Amino acid sequence: MTKVVTRFAPSPTGHLHIGGARTALFCWLLARHYGGEFRLRIEDTDTERSRQEYTDSILASMRWLGLDWDGELSYQSRRTDLYNAAVDRLLETGHAYWCSCTPEDVEAMREKARSEGGKPRYDGRCREKGLGPGPGRVVRLKAPAEGRVVFEDMVKGHIAVDVSELDDMILRRSDGMPTYNMAVVVDDHDMGITHVLRGDDHVPNTPKQILIYQALGWELPVFGHVPMILGPDRQKLSKRHGARAVVEYQSEGLLPHALVNCLVRLGWSHGDKELFTMRELVELFDGHNLNSSAAAFDFEKLAWLNAHYLRETPDAELAALVAPFVAKEGFPQATAAVIEPLLPLFRERASNLVELARALPMVLNHADSLEYDPAAVAKALTAEGRTHVAGVRELLAAVAEFSRESAERVIHDYVESKGIKFKQIGPPLRVALTGRLGGPGLPDVMAAIGREDTLARLDRAFGLSE
Ligand code: GLU
Repeated sequence: MTKVVTRFAPSPTGHLHIGGARTALFCWLLARHYGGEFRLRIEDTDTERSRQEYTDSILASMRWLGLDWDGELSYQSRRTDLYNAAVDRLLETGHAYWCSCTPEDVEAMREKARSEGGKPRYDGRCREKGLGPGPGRVVRLKAPAEGRVVFEDMVKGHIAVDVSELDDMILRRSDGMPTYNMAVVVDDHDMGITHVLRGDDHVPNTPKQILIYQALGWELPVFGHVPMILGPDRQKLSKRHGARAVVEYQSEGLLPHALVNCLVRLGWSHGDKELFTMRELVELFDGHNLNSSAAAFDFEKLAWLNAHYLRETPDAELAALVAPFVAKEGFPQATAAVIEPLLPLFRERASNLVELARALPMVLNHADSLEYDPAAVAKALTAEGRTHVAGVRELLAAVAEFSRESAERVIHDYVESKGIKFKQIGPPLRVALTGRLGGPGLPDVMAAIGREDTLARLDRAFGLSE
């Protein structure tokens, strides 16, 4: 079997969205499954709307999702000569011709066809004129007069279009620029693409592109068109549904693998299996089982997947993912190595990386920079509560070896010896130690911050209430 080469070809007119990310993921998986190549091409011929910042953003989102590409990144805007060389070749071989019809002429032809109940199309009047280049002239494909364009779509199955549905499309505009379909065919051929997997909004382009391949005598790739992603109401997915660009999901603290897992199930399945590691996906995604009916994006499932992977991601990996968020909370010095041992205290309680990062200052701060929640102070640090805090402080200062276990024992012994209930000591001790109510177990916090800071915090708490 020849090497599988796929590509993702975004237009940099916006950030990477859910639909594009799903296409990129499928193309990446197909290439990785067969040990082939995944290429990335920036389709930036729309100079009005294309922006470098969007290219940068799309690349950043691809990296974040773990979709690495092979070879050089290519930009369509830098390959005009290549496209024009192919147009020239079509002119030389008689598969294309110059056309002097103005846009008004073409519109009049379309109007006439419409009024006669026919398909609005260019009527081919310059086909046999043998015109050469000239101002305002375009180059058109000399499409076959009859027949059908047929292809087996990886997703949709057999597709056949009668050539009478297609007209002699423009290949080079009057400004000398090649058209979109021309550029795509030349690129896909030049890059050795074997599988063109893309959104089904491109289905109408495929027969046109096939005619260009045939005119150039080039072998066709396999085509596959994945249905668009719908919102929960089964309308086209949009911002209105709460859909975000990939960068927004990233900045809101989503884990990339949660998004990957959610996306892969939109239009592909492996039995009932819902959770896949990247390795499993690469192993299982062979281009089969692609669903031809549109899938709806499930926001609740995404949240569920995120919670799942927040628990499952190994500490070291999670620490690296959360570190930038912790830096944003004011702790740029907290490296992944600093964060990693603290994660077991907080990961179960957080539903995304932002929440996780916001919980960490509780232990990353020191006694002098800790912030106290006034309501929690007023509620828990009563006179009685402070007496207990002072009692525990004294015992903690005296333990031989300060650890999670010894801290736990101290609290337990104190409760026993005073004949009090844990709830009489828990909340005041917690507020004194962390500044607020709620959070991880107290011995865990004490062990994480160490004896010195534990005592300093308890001392500081005495200056806070009443
Ligand atoms: N640039 C096109 C898009 O963003 C993709 C074209 C293709 O995959 O052939 O929709």
